[in-house]
Amino acid sequence: MRLIIVGAPGSGKGTLAKRIAADRNIPHIATGDMLREAIMVGTPVGLRAKAFVESGGLVPDDVMIGIVEERLARGDASAGWILDGFPRTLPQARALEGLLERLGQRLHAVVLLECPDSVILERVAGRRSCPACGAPYHVLHRRPARDGVCDVDGAALVRREDDSEERVLRRLLKYREETAAVVPFYEGKGLVRRVDASGSAEDVYRAAGAALSGI
Ligand code: AMP
Repeated sequence: MRLIIVGAPGSGKGTLAKRIAADRNIPHIATGDMLREAIMVGTPVGLRAKAFVESGGLVPDDVMIGIVEERLARGDASAGWILDGFPRTLPQARALEGLLERLGQRLHAVVLLECPDSVILERVAGRRSCPACGAPYHVLHRRPARDGVCDVDGAALVRREDDSEERVLRRLLKYREETAAVVPFYEGKGLVRRVDASGSAEDVYRAAGAALSGI
């Protein structure tokens, strides 16, 4: 299965993508995670992306297209993948289309996670994650057994630098200004499956499963 997940920050893209990727045994390719890792390690891509990511802006298209091109060409992506956080602009969507043509791969669906801003702001405010394994938590809705500590590996949970209210508002604006334009692009190809993402992670997983049945 080759799938794109589109949605505003905090709509639950990562949580859903991880589950579908595990079910289908395909890689979860999250460009935000890849950038955070590159920034932490200090690679040339990381150095170029750092200021954009931390301020809640978008990293330039040429950088992003290069990252995804390199990632999709790896062997583990030949049988399928889930893209989470890419494409985020129309030029990225067009570049991906050309790339998939060159690779001889067909995109099966684009899941659009729909969620009101009020729910997004509340979710992002409480969002925490494990810096070691990436497991997602929430201070109200998905609490670890011990406050502030990852259930999987005991690492101290962290809040993303770009999850402050001011930066989330900026990221929401970017979503409306740029990313929303990819929806009509894929709608024109009959690929979009809309999923109500305002409920619990379990509800969203179930709704996405129904939307993707037969794929
Ligand atoms: P995410 O984890 O998907 O919310 O991404 C975190 C941040 O990484 C975004 O706010 C952007 O700064 C950057 N980013 C991730 N994916 C892309 C992309 N496809 N295009 C531009 N910037 C991106």
